[in-house]
Amino acid sequence: MPLLEKNHFLPELHLIPEDVLKNARLMFLNYPNNPTSQVADKSFFAEVVEFAHKHKILIAHDAAYSEMTYDGYKAPSILEVPGAKEVAIEFFSLSKTYNMTGWRVGFAVGHPQAIALLGKVKSNLDSGIFQAIQLAAITALKDGDSALEENLKIYQGRRDLLIQGMNNLGFKTALPRATFYCWIPVPPGYTSSELSLKFLEEMNIVVTPGNGFGPNGEGYFRISLTVAESRLLEALTRVKKSYSRS
Ligand SMILES: *Cc1c(COP(=O)(O)O)cnc(C)c1O
Repeated sequence: MPLLEKNHFLPELHLIPEDVLKNARLMFLNYPNNPTSQVADKSFFAEVVEFAHKHKILIAHDAAYSEMTYDGYKAPSILEVPGAKEVAIEFFSLSKTYNMTGWRVGFAVGHPQAIALLGKVKSNLDSGIFQAIQLAAITALKDGDSALEENLKIYQGRRDLLIQGMNNLGFKTALPRATFYCWIPVPPGYTSSELSLKFLEEMNIVVTPGNGFGPNGEGYFRISLTVAESRLLEALTRVKKSYSRS
């Protein structure tokens, strides 16, 4: 589904073609969203749940960034909507929240039958996670709140620094309320790929061109806040130099 800025990067359900709807069994959603960093409120999820009931579609909500939020914002779960548990499952991964990317731990909750089927598939595909990782995951979920809070402060600091720095250099982007991504419009005169190549070749900075996420990502690029403030500052210095030269 196209996620467009004019719709706050939310899909327009009424625009899904009739023939697609007729055959659709499953709809994937992801909020807070990678790469746009857009958040969805409960009224959007309510609309989704109603739509799913009406068209008999199972909603799979990827909530990988549900805990990565800033400025007091709390991302809702789709399961907070009445009736959601009859049409939706929600996935959570410890990858981002607890710096456990690649450790392959997460969970799914919601629609009981869908969860049972997922369990059946999963237990026939693999046979459980390495136990040390399971123990680490238990500790993260039980005692990880303060570490998470510390990490969020670090991400928020990087976010503020990067966004303000980029806006000072003439880029036009708002503060993301969630995720560790900044989804920034490409300035006039460049495509996503051209700008990303310029960053790479002239400044030795790796950013992700928006078109890599599909045609509707054209006109944007993504910066990840997964490096230290000193590195982000260095990047801003290089961007400034490169732009003042050209
Ligand atoms: C990083 C990420 C995940 C987590 O994937 P894992 O396979 O659990 O590491 C899930 N969804 C989105 C949108 C992500 O960006």
